[in-house]
Amino acid sequence: LLEVDGLTKQFGGLVAVDDFSLEVEPGEIVGLIGPNGSGKSTVFNCIMSIYDVTDGSIRFNGGDITDDATHEVVNKGLSRVSQESNPIDSMSVAGNIKLFTLPNSIVSLRGGASEREIYDYAARIGIEDDLQEMPDELPHADVRRLEIAKALATEPELLLLDEPFAGMNQAEITELAAQIERFREEGMTMVVVDHNMGGLMDLVDRVVVLNNGTKIAAGSPEEIAENEAVQKAYLAGE
Ligand code: ATP
Ligand code: MG
Repeated sequence: LLEVDGLTKQFGGLVAVDDFSLEVEPGEIVGLIGPNGSGKSTVFNCIMSIYDVTDGSIRFNGGDITDDATHEVVNKGLSRVSQESNPIDSMSVAGNIKLFTLPNSIVSLRGGASEREIYDYAARIGIEDDLQEMPDELPHADVRRLEIAKALATEPELLLLDEPFAGMNQAEITELAAQIERFREEGMTMVVVDHNMGGLMDLVDRVVVLNNGTKIAAGSPEEIAENEAVQKAYLAGE
């Protein structure tokens, strides 16, 4: 479904991502982990064409999307939940979700979703009771769920989740993991980023590890948990 081949991204003299490759098959949940600053969000930003790549190519559903604009990438079925939440605070939760279904928004889609559809996007992530609330009145976990609902509203085939569990308590993490599992059952493919090794290991089929922009390991969660190079990279980052 997704093929990232030889992706390199430099910021001036800094090589944030160095010759990184990743293939994601339909129906998989892939974990992308690595210490702070290892390049995880940069990989997502390159896939979504938020950043131009320095080198390498990105293919989705067999087509080259490397030089697409972000709205073209989204319209082809790719969506990303950013590490930082950025709801519009002067609009309700429902309004924020609807924005992602309007033509001429950054992610132009159909003619704007109906109330029923917006309710359904919210319900899929468990915030249907918050639809009339304002984002700045919501607890952190619900703001993060709103970000996911916005991504769902673009009807993605592949969803990139950047640190979805950050700042959540254990009960919220467990609930969100169950919801992500349900997305998979509904046919969605996902790449989930986390900066530590704990949280997503039960959720993902396999794990890819970045360190200083380079892939240092890939394998099953069990293999990665026992991988010495991975443990060393995490210790060095502390
Ligand atoms: P974290 O776990 O903290 O989110 P990360 O793995 O997502 O880290 P990135 O945000 O991808 O790491 O950053 C990788 C490197 O690229 C860092 O050194 C960062 O400072 C640098 N970087 C990222 N975005 C930019 C930018 N827009 N301009 C300059 N440098 C950047
Ligand atoms: Mg990041």
